[in-house]
Amino acid sequence: MVDVLTEEQRQLNMSRIRGRDTKPEMLIRRGLHARGFRYRLQDRSLPGRPDLVFPRYKAVILVHGCFWHGHDCPMFRLPATRSEFWSEKIAANQSRDARAHEALLASGWRVLTVWECCLKGRARLPFDAVLRLCDSFICGNQTELIISGAWSDFRSAQAR
Ligand SMILES: [Zn+2]
Repeated sequence: MVDVLTEEQRQLNMSRIRGRDTKPEMLIRRGLHARGFRYRLQDRSLPGRPDLVFPRYKAVILVHGCFWHGHDCPMFRLPATRSEFWSEKIAANQSRDARAHEALLASGWRVLTVWECCLKGRARLPFDAVLRLCDSFICGNQTELIISGAWSDFRSAQAR
């Protein structure tokens, strides 16, 4: 049983790192590197400075923490203290993400969004499945894809 305050504290700590080299991103980086992919990191010349850039494939991967980027999933929980500050902060992040996403698509980049909850927590997918999805997106021709935790499975399992 995960203590709620501990979980919040952890998310706050993570948010202070501002998305740089956070664990979910490292998992994806290492996993794809092991599969032979090479990429540029946080390319400043592209909108929103995508986490991983695959120029040969005209593809980028954004690895989003569910708290910091305000994912609509149970791993997002607004802190009880200074909640107004956090909700404004996160709303600003969400609109910045949306603008960057549109700008990337508009300039011909294919965009894969990987949410933290597909990598950790109770709704996570098998890591190998996540890497396979990334792999086939990078090598394929889909314009955009979002990978997140299997929350719908989790909810229907609970309902049964
Ligand atoms: Zn999430």
